[in-house]
Amino acid sequence: MDAPQETTRQLAPTQAGITEAARLLSAGALVAMPTETVYGLAGDARNPDAVAGIFAAKGRPQHNPLIVHLADLDQARALAEIPQRGLALARAFWPGPLTLVAPLRAGHGLAPAVTAGLNSVALRLPAHPVARALLTAFGGVVAAPSANPSGRISPTTPAHVLAGLGGRIAAVLDGGACAVGLESSIVGFDGEAALLLREGGISREALEAVLGAPLGRDASGKVTAPGQLAAHYAPRATLRLNVRAPRPSEVWIGFGPECEGAEFSLSQTGDLEEAAARLFAVLHAADAMGRPIAVAPVPERGLGAAINDRLRRAAAPRRA
Ligand code: AMP
Ligand code: MG
Repeated sequence: MDAPQETTRQLAPTQAGITEAARLLSAGALVAMPTETVYGLAGDARNPDAVAGIFAAKGRPQHNPLIVHLADLDQARALAEIPQRGLALARAFWPGPLTLVAPLRAGHGLAPAVTAGLNSVALRLPAHPVARALLTAFGGVVAAPSANPSGRISPTTPAHVLAGLGGRIAAVLDGGACAVGLESSIVGFDGEAALLLREGGISREALEAVLGAPLGRDASGKVTAPGQLAAHYAPRATLRLNVRAPRPSEVWIGFGPECEGAEFSLSQTGDLEEAAARLFAVLHAADAMGRPIAVAPVPERGLGAAINDRLRRAAAPRRA
C-alpha cells in the first residue's frame, strides 16, 4: 500500500459533524461511518473515483463487490428488483443487519466496481441513527465495506478505524461502539429461493422464521469474496479455537462462567448477543498483547454460528 497521505479528521455525531461528513461524501472523499454492525468505509457509490478510493484505502481485491447502503426501501427498489421473499425479509429486518443481493435495474448509475461488474447488487439499510442521518443528509447512495485494511479484524470503534486506516481516509464520524458488532447477514436469491450467502448479525433461525422455509446455501460460487475466503478477519497473532485449557504462553478469551482466569471474556454469562457485540473489540485487544490467542468454545446456535464463522476465518492458515 502507498504511504499515508492525509490527516484523518474525527467528526462528532452532531448536526455539524454529519453535515460535514455529507459534504465530504459529495466531494468524492471517504468517510468511516458508524453502523450497528461495524464501522463502514463510505464513499459515493455513483462516483467511480470515490469507489476506486475505497478499494485502494483498504487494499481490497477488485473482484470483491461492495454493499450499497441506503436510507429507505424505495431507494433500494429503484436500484434492484427485490423478489417477494426479499421484500418480506426487508420489512421484518430493515433497517438492520441484513443485506439482500438482487438483480440490478437499468439506469442504476452505480460505478461498475461497486458490483465487481456483476448484474446483481448487495443492498442494506443500516439502523444506526448516525448512519441514517448521514445517508439522509448526503441524499445519494453509499458503498461501504468494513473500515479496516482488507483481511484484518473489523472495526467496532473509531479508535479501531484510526489504527487501521488513519492517514488514508478523510474522516471518521464518531458513533460510539457498534451495538451488533458482527457484519450483516447476506441473503441472495435463486429465483424465489432464498440463500444464506454469509452468516451475520441476524441468526439463520430468525431469518427462516420470517421466510417460513429453510435458507439454502449458495452453490453457484459466482462471487469469490475475501469475506468468504478461509483466511480473513485475521489478527497478527495465531489463534486456536475451542480451547478449555490454554497454554501458559497464550492469551485466553473465555465465553461463559466457566472460564476462570481468562484475560478476556466474550460474555461472562454466556450471552451470544453480548459476545457478538464484543467479539472484534476483544480480538483487537487480545492481539495487542502480542501473544498467541486461544478462544473458548462458543455454541453454534443463534448468533454463535456467525461468531464461529469469524473465529474460524481468523484462525485459518494465511499467506504472509
Ligand atoms: P463486506 O465485505 O462486508 O463489505 O461485504 C461484501 C460482501 O457482500 C462480498 O464479499 C460478497 O460476499 C457480498 N456481495 C456484495 N455484492 C454482491 C453481489 N452482487 N452478489 C453476491 N454477493 C455480493
Ligand atoms: Mg470486511
